[in-house]
Amino acid sequence: MKRRPQSGIFLRSHNVILLNSIDYYPDTVRGLVLFHELVHAQQKRTGIPAPSHPNARALRELQAYELEFKVLDRLNLPGYKEALEAEVRRVRSEFQQQTTSRPNLANPYLDVMFPDVGMQVQSRTKVASILLFRAILLMVERDFKPEEVAQKKLWVTQKITGRN
Ligand SMILES: [Zn+2]
Repeated sequence: MKRRPQSGIFLRSHNVILLNSIDYYPDTVRGLVLFHELVHAQQKRTGIPAPSHPNARALRELQAYELEFKVLDRLNLPGYKEALEAEVRRVRSEFQQQTTSRPNLANPYLDVMFPDVGMQVQSRTKVASILLFRAILLMVERDFKPEEVAQKKLWVTQKITGRN
């Protein structure tokens, strides 16, 4: 799977976080991107997860996204719960039809949750991708036994991010 374009990166050698040109993202999303990169900075500083872990890169991504989504959940943006449940239904339906779910840029909830999302493709893609990934992780939590959830989430993260 093609790697998605990065929104930001933490450079350990310089101890700086570089954000891509994401001025067109909604303010909330830019905050989430920065938070996500701060998690990566902390991971590199602490060495957790261990770089020797066989799936260290995917695990780092999963942890960063899970913390990012925890913030998103807590923000409880207008329409967020409805949007998330609608996305879960869409992904389930597409899965049953053996269709790969793609970010839904036309989702009207995007404009409710993020009034400043605008019509720019990159901005809508980013927001729709966040919602899609969040919905998939929620489905894993609901569909699998507790002892299976961590491994399934890692597998999903590998598929979505292209990281091993
Ligand atoms: Zn990341």
